[in-house]
Formats: sequence, structure tokens, C-alpha cells
Amino acid sequence: MPTVSENYVDGEWTVSETGETFAVRNPAEPSSITGRFQASAPGDVEVAVAAAVDAQEEWADTPGPDRGDVLKRASELLESRKESATERLVREEGKTRSEAAGEVQRAIDIFAYYAQKCLDLGGISKSASGRNTDLYTKREPLGTVALITPWNYPVAIPAWKLAPALAAGNTAVIKPASAAPGMTALLFECLDEAGLPDGVANMVTGSGGDVGTPLAEHDDVDGVSFTGSTAVGTSVAQSAANDLKRVQCEMGGKNPTVVMPSADIDEAAEILGVGAFGTTGQSCTAASRAIVHEDVYDEFVEAVVAYADDVAIGPGLDDPDMGPHVSESELESTLEYVELGQEEGATLETGGERLSGGEYGDGYYVEPAVFSDVDNDMRIAQEEIFGPVLSVIEVADFEEALAVANDIEYGLSASIVTQDLTEADEFVDGVEAGVAKVNEKTTGLELHVPFGGYKNSSTNTYREQGDAGLDFFTSTKTVYRN
Ligand code: NAP
Repeated sequence: MPTVSENYVDGEWTVSETGETFAVRNPAEPSSITGRFQASAPGDVEVAVAAAVDAQEEWADTPGPDRGDVLKRASELLESRKESATERLVREEGKTRSEAAGEVQRAIDIFAYYAQKCLDLGGISKSASGRNTDLYTKREPLGTVALITPWNYPVAIPAWKLAPALAAGNTAVIKPASAAPGMTALLFECLDEAGLPDGVANMVTGSGGDVGTPLAEHDDVDGVSFTGSTAVGTSVAQSAANDLKRVQCEMGGKNPTVVMPSADIDEAAEILGVGAFGTTGQSCTAASRAIVHEDVYDEFVEAVVAYADDVAIGPGLDDPDMGPHVSESELESTLEYVELGQEEGATLETGGERLSGGEYGDGYYVEPAVFSDVDNDMRIAQEEIFGPVLSVIEVADFEEALAVANDIEYGLSASIVTQDLTEADEFVDGVEAGVAKVNEKTTGLELHVPFGGYKNSSTNTYREQGDAGLDFFTSTKTVYRN
């Protein structure tokens, strides 16, 4: 029997006022329910925000090193459960064992990283023009923050919002995505055991409409940090702007990788293959457009098709190269895009079929797909598919490649494969993306560097992770002391 998870509010595990729950299923075996969660209502949000507001002053007054101790203990507790957390993540969201282990490790490291930052939260000291005057800045917490997270990194993203928010002295209410809320619940088990004071962090599960909207729009919430689709993020940002609330939205991507004639084509195919099909293409930074110079186009298509055909697919616990989609609706969406690409006139070189029966059962599996002959104005080249589908676009030269890379509403991550240093520099300077890489896949970023997008991938005001991750959660006060 699946366990029933409760909300975590004011230091207690509590049931929703609705008395209702929703089920989460194993994407590799949808008949198996991995957990049930509270189908909460706006009233639950009300109670959680009130608890967070009540706890805020005392938490902000808690010395930074003491806040850091709690985060460090939470990191250690998660580490002690790494194996079971990894398996839980595989069962709930469908990642492969290696991908899930990497994500859990990221969450462990993030809590340890911001625990350390708690020792280092001071401002800067400046020379004042007046005599006998100290002039310095100090960081103050924003207050009570709302955190709204997606399902595709269901432990790393909650961690990279919660840890800096708490480190900086804020209190928080988080609403995890309904497709995979169990890993956030696990973080709260660790925070609870680590001794986090009541009310400092609260979790309310439920739908975007019943929990996400009232949380983001709550008058007592001082800031909203959202990660998810551009459609939902735009409405969250608009409602926050109406209230003059601080808001940070990290959203979708349609990430290009340019392949130039000097590239090693097998290496380029691997960079694209890992970037496009890793995590079943369900990463905001997934490579989805290969923009390839005409001199190496045919060779590249052949190499990347061979890569795709070699991808081992299966249940994440067996640790293949690629697991299932998270849900039936995500699988259906990918299959629809595969159909659309053919209708638009692109050539489906390989893949795109649903895999079912036998070892796949009724899991949400699809073969990785490669389209060639793609025009950049086709919908498959412009819209975020969020599945293992790569569009290959032919270009005549570097200038055209850069123009095509930028001819898109998104600007999250971009890369180029080349041995030409001048081309590499011009790409880094010219590409409209928050992350630019040379001879690397578009996915993956270390935790100590800023992460965020340009254009419609982000509100582009604050970055997440690293030192920059604290900026959203703090205000700077300038102090003159004579
Ligand atoms: P989503 O549908 O936009 O949902 C994100 C979160 O918002 C979920 O918790 C969702 O709740 C909630 N939500 C839905 N409607 C809402 C509303 N009206 N008001 C407030 N909250 C609402 O995105 P997703 O499908 O979970 O995640 C995939 C998307 O996230 C992709 O577009 C991907 O590119 C993006 N992403 C971006 C980054 C980045 O850093 N740029 C990282 C990871 C993912 P429910 O789950 O209950 O619907």
C-alpha cells in the first residue's frame, strides 16, 4: 500500500482541510501508485503562510552560523538516505538510477553549500567621505517567500530554492509539482529531523490552481520564486508585478547547439545525444536544436542517428541510458510533436515510436527521435517539446548558425562544437542565452555558478545557485554610522 504523505505546516505533518488526496504513479509501471499526497485548498495555504510569517522574525534573528548548522544537518541526513532517496526518485519521476543519484547528490551539496554561506552573509565596508563615519552595507532577509517548483528535478530545484531562502533568514512555503511531490516531502523529513524551528519552512501539496495561485498571490508573501513553464511563469510574474512583489521565474528552453566543420563529428553527436536524450529530454536545458554547418551536415545526421539508435531504454532502476516520460500526458505531448514534425515536412530519421509491451509494459516509454531537414520556423524547432526529440537544421556559415540559434523566444542554454577559437568567442559573445558553452552539452551546471535564462526563459532579474542565489532572498541596506 502506498504511504499517504501529509503537508508540513508549522512543524507538524498535517492533513488538508479538504480531506482529499491525489495519487502519484510510477512512470515505468503506471499501475503502481508510489504515494498519495494532500489535495490541498486555499485554506491550507492560508494556514501555512500565517505560520511562516509568525516564525520569520525569530528565524531572521537566529545567528547565521546556527541557521547554517540546521542546513548542514539536513544535508547530512539526506546523505545518510542517499540510496533510498535515489530509488524513491526513480520510482516517482522515472529518471535512471545514475541520473537520480546525481540529482540527490546535488541536493545534498546545495544544503551543505548554503550552510557554509550562512557564515558569510555580511555586506561590504566602504570608505565614507565624512569623518568618524562607518559606511557599510548589510543583507537583510526578504521576509516570507513562496517557492513553486516543477517535477523534472523534484529534489534539486526545491533544494536550490529552500536552502538559500532559509540561509538568508527568510521563512518559506513551498508548493511542489503534483507529478512528483514526494522528494520535497523527503527534504522536509530531513529538515524536521535537523531541528528546523516550527513554521520556518512549510510544504503544501495540491494543484497549481488551488495551491500555487493563492500562494503566489498571497498578500503576506514578500517574494515568489517560481520554476516551470513559460506559460505559467508569465502569469505568476504578471500577478506579482500587480502587487509590486519581488518575483523570479525560471522557465522553458529550446536550446541550440551549433556544430561547425572543425568539430570532431562523433564527439559532436555525443554532445548532442547526451544533451537531447538524457533525462528523457525533460530538462529545461536539454539540447533540442542541432544547427549544423552544411559541410558536415550529412556526416552529423548519420552520427547522431547512430547515437540515438544505440540509446538503451528501460526502467530507471536498471540504470539504462534513458527512462520513461514522467506521465502519460508528457508522453502524449512528445508523440504529438513527432507527428507534427512529419506534417510540417521534416524528415523523421529515426525513433519517435512509443515502446510498450514486454519489458516496457504500459510504462511511458518513447524512442529518442531525430528530425533532419528542419526549418527553424517550424513549430518543432520553435516550441519546447520536453521529450527526447532533436531537430537538425542545416546552415551555410557561422553567421547564419548564430542567427538561427538566436531566432527563438527562449534563451536558456546554448553551445557550440568547434576547434576554432575565434568562432567560439564570437558565439559566446553573440548568443542570447544565460548559459553559453563551448564543446560541451547544453545540460548540466555546477552549483557554485549563477543559473538563469535570457528572453522568455526567465524574468532575468535574479539568478539562482552560487552566491547569486542569495540575491533574490535578500535586500541590501546601506548604513552610515557616525
Ligand atoms: P508547470 O506546469 O509550469 O508547473 C510548475 C509549477 O507551477 C508546478 O508546481 C505547478 O503545479 C505550478 N502551477 C501550475 N499552474 C499554476 C498557476 N496557475 N499558478 C501557480 N502555480 C501553478 O511546469 P512543469 O511541467 O512542472 O515543469 C516543466 C517546465 O519547467 C518546462 O517548461 C521546463 O523548461 C521548466 N523548467 C525550467 C527550469 C529553469 O531553471 N529554467 C528548470 C526546470 C524546469 P502542478 O504541478 O500542480 O500543476
